[in-house]
Amino acid sequence: MTRLAAVGSTGEMIGLEDRWGAHNYHPLPVVVARAEGPWVYDVDGNRYLDCLSAYSAVNQGHCHPRILRALRSQAERVTLTSRAYRNDQLPLFCRDVAELCGMEMVLPMNSGAEAVETAIKAARRWGYMRKGIPSGRAEIVVCENNFHGRTTTIVGFSSDPGSREGFGPFAPGFRSVPFGDAAALAQAITPDTCAFLVEPIQCEAGILMPPEGYLAEAAAICRDRNVLLIADEIQTGLGRTGTLFACEHEGVRPDAYVLGKALSGGFYPVSAVVSRRDVLGVFDPGSHGSTFGGNPLGCAVAREALRVIVEERLVARSAELGGWFLRQLRRISHPEIIGIRGRGLLAGIELRNPARPRCERLQELGMLCKETHDRVIRIAPPLVIERADLEWALGRLRVAFGA
Ligand SMILES: *Cc1c(COP(=O)(O)O)cnc(C)c1O
Repeated sequence: MTRLAAVGSTGEMIGLEDRWGAHNYHPLPVVVARAEGPWVYDVDGNRYLDCLSAYSAVNQGHCHPRILRALRSQAERVTLTSRAYRNDQLPLFCRDVAELCGMEMVLPMNSGAEAVETAIKAARRWGYMRKGIPSGRAEIVVCENNFHGRTTTIVGFSSDPGSREGFGPFAPGFRSVPFGDAAALAQAITPDTCAFLVEPIQCEAGILMPPEGYLAEAAAICRDRNVLLIADEIQTGLGRTGTLFACEHEGVRPDAYVLGKALSGGFYPVSAVVSRRDVLGVFDPGSHGSTFGGNPLGCAVAREALRVIVEERLVARSAELGGWFLRQLRRISHPEIIGIRGRGLLAGIELRNPARPRCERLQELGMLCKETHDRVIRIAPPLVIERADLEWALGRLRVAFGA
């Protein structure tokens, strides 16, 4: 028992994790022991501003009291039924998510990658059942530099060698085109194409923004060619970019949204595919499932997480604060900074050299952010952040860059 109760120092904890845990991450050397809103505290009592938000899973802020209450009260009633029975939270979750997205049907899963897999299955079945693609031939167009998760199927269509190497053989049925190139998409589509799977902004690739008009053009191409447009909004969705979904910046309504991360405000893994009846209707009993998917605890947590986004006006907050923050960021000039891009409270600072040392310097200064694809610092704080905290962050950045 004493071993469980003891809280070790940063060095001890890192030593234990490196000894007993697999090394599939390269985390910053900070050991978080508690968190609240946009702030996290390490085992030594230091406070940091969280500018990553668990890859936008805690858009609502850490340990949001309303979501915590929902989690506690549901945990006392029933947590898991499996889908062998019905539960009294799933119907409400499906209705709330569908209404929020302006869609007709919801299929709940747990991790983001599982929801992407679900979208792939839905698209292929739709291709066979609705579009008439010959059996076994369905193809999905994806983008270079995509990030859709870590399953073997998904890493099979990644262009990142680190994600793929040593994990083959990979599933066929995917064709990759450059992100932002609508002509290449049009060219890649064949009569066997069932879907185009795309992130509206490629976050993991380094906050890559497509040229203006790209998503609208892609949507038009998909409509013309009877191909489903599937938007992976797991990271960009639910307010991060200043609209509920990043697709809205171009007035695009995809055929399906893939959601995860902030869908549960960081309390519990909840993901979903949200789409029309003709798409998700291709699943019949036995064709797909998950033991934990749609469980009452996850559903109760997710419903409250969504209510927080709506009732605390986090989307508008992201637009207002994010627009101002990006303008301020662009005023920091330093020879090492070669570009600032972003939307809402999602910003990328592209550097000439690897960003890791700069992130470690920022950690010393009390600000946690993580490099993405080597040379880009992603800044994506919880959407509940105060303007004064962002001003503080700008000050820390100026110090880190000596600007
Ligand atoms: C994080 C992420 C995923 C995968 O989600 P997991 O919950 O880590 O499986 C998929 N797509 C995008 C765009 C993501 O950011």
